[in-house]
Amino acid sequence: MAEYSQYINKERLKKLFIRMAEIDTGSCETSKKDEKPSTKKQMQFAKKLANYLRYIGLQNVKLENKTGIVTAELKGNIDSDLSIGLIAHMDTSEQAPTGPVKVLTHDYTGGNIQLKDDTIILEKVLEPYKNDLIITSDGTTLLGADDKAGIAEIIEAVTILKEHKDIKHPNIKLAFTPDEEIGYGVSFFNIKTFGADLAYTVDGSNACNIESETFNAFNPEITFEGIPVHSGYAYNKMINSIDAAALFLSRLPKEEKPEKTQDREGFYHVYNISGDVSKTTVKMIVRDFDYEKAKQRIKYLQECLEKIGEEFNGIKITFNKIEAYKNMKAYLEEFPEVIEYARHAIARTGLVPQEPPVRGGTDGAMLTVRGLLTPNLGTGGVNFHSKEEFVSLNSMALCTENILNLMKIWADNIDEIMAKIIERRKKLKAK
Ligand SMILES: [Zn+2]
Repeated sequence: MAEYSQYINKERLKKLFIRMAEIDTGSCETSKKDEKPSTKKQMQFAKKLANYLRYIGLQNVKLENKTGIVTAELKGNIDSDLSIGLIAHMDTSEQAPTGPVKVLTHDYTGGNIQLKDDTIILEKVLEPYKNDLIITSDGTTLLGADDKAGIAEIIEAVTILKEHKDIKHPNIKLAFTPDEEIGYGVSFFNIKTFGADLAYTVDGSNACNIESETFNAFNPEITFEGIPVHSGYAYNKMINSIDAAALFLSRLPKEEKPEKTQDREGFYHVYNISGDVSKTTVKMIVRDFDYEKAKQRIKYLQECLEKIGEEFNGIKITFNKIEAYKNMKAYLEEFPEVIEYARHAIARTGLVPQEPPVRGGTDGAMLTVRGLLTPNLGTGGVNFHSKEEFVSLNSMALCTENILNLMKIWADNIDEIMAKIIERRKKLKAK
């Protein structure tokens, strides 16, 4: 059994993580879609990151000026051209203040961790991390372990592979992407240029987690257009778009909302309404793990709107269903080794692999649908997108070990797997 934990330089891993976490890299939803990345600070971070990757001696380090995506490569030491991608995102979520981040470390022995701004990390969440080093912000911002812990772990893993040439591994292609938190992380990601046969994002929580099952997502936008008339003369003339929208909302299933569903249950969620008598727009998200069920939900909305159109003589309704992303599970099933090897890698680290469904999407889900199979691995981070966010140093080390084990397992199985990889390359080329 491989035992790579001794190779992990925890001090180096911690320092690199803290150095990156201190830098504010918040992305911004409202900044124009054609600005890439959405904030200048991400580009500044990308430049520093690219320089660091050059400094540690990786090959083909590139920063794409048009997108802010940083890529690099570590050539394999086995007789094969198999390339595995490792992907993490540079931006942090604007759901909490993004920085600059004042990073604190705590030798944790028990109890709550009390930070500034009345930010408290509760003992019940910290319980599994007793006698570990806990890394937090000072309580006024998020920490950004999502996803700088992922970046730090990937870099520590490839640094170790450079130091210990006896560990067998295929070609490793790294990519660090901006704007994941606002949904554009991989929109401009060129799978062909990246050149990996398959990949893993390192952007989840627990070190034992493999995430391969995401929602199917639609983001419908519905517009009701009525006829505004002065209220004094409205009799038999006015058509109030607000009333039509209200009727529509009243017909959505009451029990199928985010706050009333869990595990594999799907939902309808209205998150924005704006308008007046003449025009009301309803923005919503529709989610389901089953693609057919997700489509049925869209059909239900469509039928609902048709009825309202009949009842509200003269109302004009536009329904834009907007498909956002798909559950990657079905796609991953065509190449089960991608998950199987990840399970083995986590078990070799000494953990019991868990595969919880993700009630959301991942960058990997979008890449998977586009042809690059990419499940998600854990980073060790907890309480993402909040001022209570933290990560423990041991968890980060475990995640690094997972990556090392995973690369070794791909290398060890190269003879059996390569025919399948070549078959898949042909299939993708033919598309
Ligand atoms: Zn993330």
